[in-house]
Amino acid sequence: MADKITLTQSVTALKGVGSKVAERLEKLGINQIQDLLFHLPLRYQDRTRLQPMGTLRLHQEVLVEGTVKLSQIKFGRRRSLLCHIGDGTGSLVLRFFHFSNTQLQQLAQGVRVRCFGEVRNGPSSLEMVHPEYQVIADDKVVPVDAELTPIYPTTEGLHQLSFRKLIKQALALLNDESLPELVIEQAKLNAVAHYSLVEALHFVHQPPPDVDVQLLLDKRHPTQRRLAYEELLAHHLSMRKVKAQAQQHAAPVLKGDGDYRQQLLQQLPFPLTNAQQRVVAEILTDIAQAIPMQRLVQGDVGSGKTVVAAMAVLEAVSAGYQAVMMAPTELLADQHLQTFKTWLEPLGLQVGWCVGKQTASERRQVLTDLSDGKIQVAVGTHALFQDEVTFNKLGLVVIDEQHRFGVHQRLALRDKGKGADSFPHQLVMTATPIPRTLAMTAYADLNVSVIDELPPGRIPVTTVVLPDTRRAEIVQRVDVACQQNRQVYWVCTLIEESEHLQCQAAEDAAIELQEALPDLRIALVHGRMKSAEKEQVMQQFKAGNIDLLVATTVIEVGVDVPNASLMIIENAERLGLAQLHQLRGRVGRGSVQSHCVLMYKSPLSENGQARLRCLRDTNDGFAIAQRDLELRGPGEVLGTRQTGLPQFRVADVMQDQDLINVMPPAADHLLASSPDLSEQLIARWFGHKIDFGQV
Ligand code: ADP
Ligand code: MG
Repeated sequence: MADKITLTQSVTALKGVGSKVAERLEKLGINQIQDLLFHLPLRYQDRTRLQPMGTLRLHQEVLVEGTVKLSQIKFGRRRSLLCHIGDGTGSLVLRFFHFSNTQLQQLAQGVRVRCFGEVRNGPSSLEMVHPEYQVIADDKVVPVDAELTPIYPTTEGLHQLSFRKLIKQALALLNDESLPELVIEQAKLNAVAHYSLVEALHFVHQPPPDVDVQLLLDKRHPTQRRLAYEELLAHHLSMRKVKAQAQQHAAPVLKGDGDYRQQLLQQLPFPLTNAQQRVVAEILTDIAQAIPMQRLVQGDVGSGKTVVAAMAVLEAVSAGYQAVMMAPTELLADQHLQTFKTWLEPLGLQVGWCVGKQTASERRQVLTDLSDGKIQVAVGTHALFQDEVTFNKLGLVVIDEQHRFGVHQRLALRDKGKGADSFPHQLVMTATPIPRTLAMTAYADLNVSVIDELPPGRIPVTTVVLPDTRRAEIVQRVDVACQQNRQVYWVCTLIEESEHLQCQAAEDAAIELQEALPDLRIALVHGRMKSAEKEQVMQQFKAGNIDLLVATTVIEVGVDVPNASLMIIENAERLGLAQLHQLRGRVGRGSVQSHCVLMYKSPLSENGQARLRCLRDTNDGFAIAQRDLELRGPGEVLGTRQTGLPQFRVADVMQDQDLINVMPPAADHLLASSPDLSEQLIARWFGHKIDFGQV
C-alpha cells in the first residue's frame, strides 16, 4: 500500500500533476498540497437551481431551461445564430457568433435546452451570448449541480476544471488531523468561531446549494469570516516578524544634552501643544535605544509636525549624528529648508539642500559637505538617497508626507542609509490620517504616534459645495476677499491624469480670471514650471505681493501662507476626500475665518454628493479618512499603487474591521503560547509570496 499523502507534500503527489502543471501551479504560489486548499475561489457560479426566465435580472449568471421557439440566422454586420427560448414564465435569446451546422440542427424548434450564462441586454430582449448549453432529451431527468461552482484565480494553461479536480483531491486529504486547528481558541467572536478551519475550507471550496449565495459573493459568510480571521492574523504575524527582525539590527543611541532643543523652544513664538510634546517624548524614547526606530507620526494638516521633526533632528545632531528630512516634492523640500534654516542656523548648525535639479557644482559641494560631516542636517527629495550620496554619520531619517510608502519602500530607504554597523532611525510623517484599522493592517510593523490636537486659536474653515453654474458668483467672492486684503487660492484639479492638461487648465483659468478681475494681482503655479520659477511665485505669494494664486494640485502638501483665507477648488468631485482635505488645509492658518468653496461639475453622482457633503460637514481628518475608506476603499485612501497592503484572498479591510481590531491580542496570545504555530500560519497564507527583502 502506498504511504499516506500529507498536506505538506508537493502537489506532484496528486493525480494529474506532472512537471508542467506543477510549474504552472508554482506561478500561483502553489507548491504544497495545502497551498491548494488556501487558494480560495474568487467567486462562484450557481448551477444548483433553474431560474424562471420571468425573474431574470441583468448581469446575473444563471442556469435556465426552456424550449426553443425559433432559431434563425441573422445576417447583419456580423452573421449570428439567434435562438429564442421560453419556459412559460418568460423568454430569452441565445446569441452565437460562431456556430456550426450541427449546432444549428441541434437547436431546432421544440428542443429543450439548459443554459448557463450571463444575462445581458440585447437589441429587443434579454440575451445570453455564447452560453454553456446542453440539449435535454424529453424523457430524461437531468439533475442540477449539488454544489455551487467555485471559480479560482488561475493562470494560462490551467483550466478551471483542472483546478476543481486538484482541489477535490486536496480536500479529500483534509481533516482535523491533517491540518491542525491553530487559532480558533483565540477567536472569541461567535460568528467566526462557529466553524472549524477544516469545515470552513470544505465549505468555501464546495458550498452547498442552500447557502445564502449573496452572503458568499460578498465574502461575508461566517466560513469566509473564519478564514479572513486567519488570513488577517497571518498577515499581522508576518508584519510583527518584519518588525522583530528590524529590531535585531543595531542603531546609534541618539541621546544628547537637550541644549539645542531648549534653544529652539525658546526661539519659537509659540509653546508646543500637549500632543506635540507627547509625540516628541515618544520619539526621543525610541531614538535613545540602540535599535532602529520605525515610527509613523500621524497628524492632521496644520497640527505642527515640522517642529516635532525638528526636535528629533536636533536630538540626533546633539548626539553627534547627521539627520535628513525627505519630502516628496521640491516645493515642499524647499519650504522645509527655509524653516529649518530659520530654526537651526541661529544654533550654529549647517543645513544642506539636496534635490534632483541642482547644478552639478552645487551638488558636488553638498555631497562633499555631507560626506565629511560639515553639514549636520540635509533637507531634500529622493535625490538624498541616490547612490553617490554618502553620509558621514547618519543617525536619523525623517520622511515627510509619504503615506504612500509600503513596507518594501520603507525598508529599502532604511537600507540605503545603512552605516558601517548600524541602521539610522526612521520617522515617517503623514498628514493623511489613516483610519485606525487600516493603519493597523498596513503599518503593523511601525509604532504609531498621533498628534491629535491642533495649535490653539485656529478657526475651523467653513466649506460650501456649489455647482459650476454659479461660477460668476464665486469669482465675485474672490474679488471681495482680495479687496479686504486677503489672499486666495484657485485650484484646478487633475484632468484625466495628464499633468500637461492640468497645467493647461490652470493657465486658461488664470487668463479668464484676470479678464474678470483686472485689478487683482494674479499669478500661476503648476508642476511644469521650473522649480526656481515656482519658488519665486510662492515667495511672492507668501510676501503678500500676489492676491490670487491659480494653482494645480502641486500646492497640496505643506505650503504655509497664513494670510490666505479663501480657497476655490474647481471640479472638486474629481479628487479623493483625503486630498481635498489636504488642499483645504492650506487655508485657515491665520487668525481670520477662512472659507473653502468646493465647485463641482453638475450633475453630480450620488456618491459624489455624499463625498463632498462629508467634507462640508466636518474638518476632522480622521472622520474624513474613515468616510473615504467606506466610499472608495483602502487603495484610494493609501494611494492606489503602493498601499502597503497585500491582496487579501478573503479578508476585507472594510468589512472585517472588527477582526482587525482583535489581531494584536490574538497575536500576543499565539506568540506566547505556541510561537512555532505562527510560522505555520504565515506559511499557510503568505508562504511563498511575501518577500520583505533582506530584513
Ligand atoms: P503640518 O503638521 O501640516 O506639517 P506645520 O508643521 O506646517 O503643520 O505647522 C503649521 C503651522 O503651525 C506652522 O506655521 C507652524 O509654525 C505652526 N505651529 C506649529 N506648532 C504650533 C503650536 N504649538 N502653536 C502655534 N502654532 C504652531
Ligand atoms: Mg507638513
